[in-house]
Amino acid sequence: ANSLLSSYGTTVFEVMSRLAIEHKAINLGQGFPDDRGPDPVLEQASKALYDPPNQYPPMMGVPELRQAVADHNGRFYGLDVDWQKEVMVSTGATEGLAACFLGLIEPGDEVVVIEPLYDCYLPMIRRAGGIPRPVRLTPPTWDLDLEALENAFSDRTKMIVVNDPQNPASKVYSRDELTAIAGLCQKYDAYALCDEAYEHLAFDGRPHIPLMSLDGMRERCVRIGSAGKTFSLTGWKVGYVTAPEHLLGPISKAHQFLVFTTAPNLQRAVAFGLAQDDSYFDGLRDDMARRRDRLTQGLTAIGLAPVTCQGTYFLFVDVAAHLYDAETDEGFCRRLVTDAGVAAVPVSAFYLDPQSAPRNFIRFCFAKQDPVLDGAVERLDTYL
Ligand code: PMP
Ligand code: GLN
Repeated sequence: ANSLLSSYGTTVFEVMSRLAIEHKAINLGQGFPDDRGPDPVLEQASKALYDPPNQYPPMMGVPELRQAVADHNGRFYGLDVDWQKEVMVSTGATEGLAACFLGLIEPGDEVVVIEPLYDCYLPMIRRAGGIPRPVRLTPPTWDLDLEALENAFSDRTKMIVVNDPQNPASKVYSRDELTAIAGLCQKYDAYALCDEAYEHLAFDGRPHIPLMSLDGMRERCVRIGSAGKTFSLTGWKVGYVTAPEHLLGPISKAHQFLVFTTAPNLQRAVAFGLAQDDSYFDGLRDDMARRRDRLTQGLTAIGLAPVTCQGTYFLFVDVAAHLYDAETDEGFCRRLVTDAGVAAVPVSAFYLDPQSAPRNFIRFCFAKQDPVLDGAVERLDTYL
């Protein structure tokens, strides 16, 4: 059938993971950790599985997880959240995003997005009838050009999507940048959809500041978290949406017709996980920062040029010096997976128009065991 979505190919993550398997490559493409996840959380999930009910949980999520999400908002960010009116559990951050776009966007509404951007935003916005208005971060430091940002706003703007910490550019927004975004939301009467899946992965003492916690933004922001990222359990697909009641209403309408609910044992285990003490969250962050450093040092030692990474579990590398004449980042990644045995993701895939995007950056995921990271560096060294 010919539909808006039929023009999209299979996601670059899936394509690269399939190629990695086919060519027995080390997969630093698709973003997922190769850890087993925290044992206490796994144990809770398994205990909860044998402690019914295993029937449909409440549409908004099991009360204990909604309470845990509200508590987590207060504990880490000083946000005062009513768990009964302002929290909804989603089937991964992905379904939370879909419910937000479907619930809040009307045909013709404009949505400001910041490139490079996570791949599901554009098709979801367009399928909801929205018109994406992209603004590009400036490489290689990925600064936000505030003038360009304001130029993307108009009286047709319904929403801006703010992904912080940012996949794929590994940027953590500063308070100044967030204040500027907040000012524009207020000036143009727009909402902010805040994808904070990597909220616990901001490195080097940089705080993660939810846009929702800024003055005047509590009623304008929707904040989304992901247990996949916070507990290194990406296959679980448990997410959580925090929003003021007037926004959560239409979001929950979309959710009830999309998936209605999410596996109850996983919800209960995530509730337990969110109540872990600080050492868990600090440990996760420090461990990922250490892996970032290990891959950065390894790549630098073999003459590659990693770019600064402030958060998430992704590292950009500038491969300009290694491209053949007229070769694109995509061509380079294909050659890397087949000939070097290492999978990465071409950064141009994260743009509305890959043709005019920067073509000299590739993204590596460093959420891997040390021998995997070292093995990838070794293969790259042999090949390049
Ligand atoms: N947003 C961003 C920025 C992500 O990187 C991801 C997943 N990798 C998601 C959302 C989706 O999260 P989930 O797996 O919980 O659906
Ligand atoms: N978020 C992951 C990444 O950026 C991939 C998730 C997916 O495959 N859809 O690599």
